Amino acid sequence: MKVAVFSAKTYDRKFLEAANIDYGHELVFFEPSLNINTAVLASSFPAVCVFVNDQLDEKALQVLQEQGTSLIALRCAGFNNVDLTAAAQLGITVVRVPAYSPYAVAEHTIGLILTLNRNLHRAYNRVREGNFALEGLLGFDLRDRTVGIIGTGKIGMIMLQILKGFGCHLLAYDLYPNPDCEALGAKYVELTELFSTSDIISLHCPITPQTYHLIDRQALEQMKKGVMLINTSRGALIDTKAVIDALKSRKIGYLGLDVYEQESNLFFEDLSNEVIQDDLFQRLLTFPNVLITGHQAFFTDNALHKIAQITLSNITDFEQGHPCPNQISIN
Ligand code: NAD
Repeated sequence: MKVAVFSAKTYDRKFLEAANIDYGHELVFFEPSLNINTAVLASSFPAVCVFVNDQLDEKALQVLQEQGTSLIALRCAGFNNVDLTAAAQLGITVVRVPAYSPYAVAEHTIGLILTLNRNLHRAYNRVREGNFALEGLLGFDLRDRTVGIIGTGKIGMIMLQILKGFGCHLLAYDLYPNPDCEALGAKYVELTELFSTSDIISLHCPITPQTYHLIDRQALEQMKKGVMLINTSRGALIDTKAVIDALKSRKIGYLGLDVYEQESNLFFEDLSNEVIQDDLFQRLLTFPNVLITGHQAFFTDNALHKIAQITLSNITDFEQGHPCPNQISIN
């Protein structure tokens, strides 16, 4: 099948081309992200392959459909960037990669927690400059700390498994409590209890109308002073302005982000020669206790290999008219 691959980086090309030896699709790579202005590039492509920050709103979908596209193959798990209702109305099928390596994301999240706690990001720079002073680098043992996991799906559950190994007390919140998580020792509690008793809070739920700005001023007020807040899920789970105020008042003691609400203007590009216009993002970078990575939690060799293989298999299912287990349907 002829597939227009948008937001294509060298690593996308490498993994997709390697996996495509088994599938034989005609892959054409486009560097720009997909939006209403770039959708024209997909003219006469029956399938487009997109990533997290491609904008598939109603207008972009309409252009795609008029040009002959009938399949959107997301090479990621989240699908908040696709207007599913519009896609269904236009007769466009949407498939995704629901799971590729939840370990990649969970392990990166643990990396953020350990880096912030032990100030490794600051220690790295100090030692390189010949500054071996320890003032300001004081950490705390993870053992016996209470960690609250919001969203105990694939990634949240692995977080619980790893944190159990550290000897943490495990709290959890999910719309659908998972008995496997309870078997690990996690106690499901209401959000208010999780907020008020956790030393570390890590977000692993999707962005939905219900979870939009889940961490807002009211939620922050309920948290312990000095709490560590980690978000490797989706940027809009957090009200960034409220979080900046909470950092200024020291309510938040540590903030670790791999995602950011306005990340589509920034992430995945080298902007080191540009003047970044996003003042909220720039303010976040000024805090010594904030660590931001640019949506790289998924970025392991294992994950990219699996993403490529499942994406191409989804496209083959569609092409051959087979039911695709990874099709997203609107309820
Ligand atoms: P999953 O679907 O396996 O689990 C999500 C869990 O969240 C489910 O158990 C669900 O019941 C729960 N949930 C849904 N609505 C909720 C709500 N209102 N309150 C509490 N819980 C709720 O998903 P996953 O694979 O574990 O992924 C979790 C998140 O990680 C997603 O947002 C995904 O987009 C993000 N993610 C980020 C990266 C990255 O590179 N940073 C990579 C992959 C996934």
